[in-house]
Amino acid sequence: MFLKKRIWVVLMMHVALVGAMKKDAKIYVAGHTGLVGSALVRRLKNDGYHNIVMRTQSELDLCNQAAVNQFFQKEKPEYVFLAAAKVGGILANSQAPASFLYDNLAIELNVIHAAYQNGVKKLLFLGSSCIYPRNCPQPIKEDYLLSSELEQTNEAYAVAKIAGLKLCEAYNRQYGTRFISVMPTNLYGPHDNFDLNTSHVIPALIRKCIQAQKNGDPKITVWGTGTPYREFLYVDDLADACLFLMNEYDGTALINIGTGKDLTIAQLVHAIKKAVGYKGTIVFDTSKPDGTPRKLLSIEKLRSLGWNASTTLEQGLQQTIAWCQKEALFNEEQ
Ligand code: GDP
Repeated sequence: MFLKKRIWVVLMMHVALVGAMKKDAKIYVAGHTGLVGSALVRRLKNDGYHNIVMRTQSELDLCNQAAVNQFFQKEKPEYVFLAAAKVGGILANSQAPASFLYDNLAIELNVIHAAYQNGVKKLLFLGSSCIYPRNCPQPIKEDYLLSSELEQTNEAYAVAKIAGLKLCEAYNRQYGTRFISVMPTNLYGPHDNFDLNTSHVIPALIRKCIQAQKNGDPKITVWGTGTPYREFLYVDDLADACLFLMNEYDGTALINIGTGKDLTIAQLVHAIKKAVGYKGTIVFDTSKPDGTPRKLLSIEKLRSLGWNASTTLEQGLQQTIAWCQKEALFNEEQ
């Protein structure tokens, strides 16, 4: 009993010592060119953090263990946001399971181990809602992890992400590190991947609607039946939640990040059509997979810590479309 209390006191002192990130703290954002990483950097800079370390994929291959070790030894970051990952939509995941498993495992092993070896104060690992079983009760609580079978279409990615969060847990237990894992729901926003073969549903449908409107096409094709439910979080809200957890969350247990609301793919198509102003019709291509029927996250834990998403789907779509237009993303296309 006495020993337990001692351990608890030591742990609490450690927490107090870590505290919130100072504005000049050295922060490594792994994956800063991607959807999540770029939102994190935007937010960190906005909040006055000015010692952010970044490397593009060609400058630092996170699958290369020696290169990652060298980078950590040289830079000695105090905090790490692990937002680098090989990601893709339903088709890319089903077509390249080996790459999704290998790349993600390698990135996690290399970065998490190097963070431990180089005394990183706190690391935040980004997972995904697809780590949860295909048919678990909704909304999905953190406790449902590994309670039954995974969804087939993205099993390789999910297994890699589960390994990443288990790695964080194991390092915390064995070495006393402070590595936290967050599981965001489906994300969207600026800097997303808009390639129709490899993207997720929102960027794909934004692109299809903008192109069809420009070309005067009377219809767009939507994959699957339109009946699956999905929850979507605007990526700037995710960045807000990640900074909140990095600075204020004392625990190390897994935390879901979402909005608490979902809609069908058919409803989503209507929202995107409206946001783009496209008036054509929709054809469902049922030869394409639906994926998991529903994955609404339970956000009770995050709510109880005092965090809520602030961007509505309509606002998030408008901002994403405005970004595509500003970047002139689809200007060359017919
Ligand atoms: P998931 O959440 O892992 O299934 O990933 P996606 O974002 O790729 O797909 C979500 C849902 O949107 C699935 O039911 C897809 O079949 C459906 N969907 C409809 N049209 C498209 C499209 O053009 N691209 C993608 N990626 N998904 C689409």
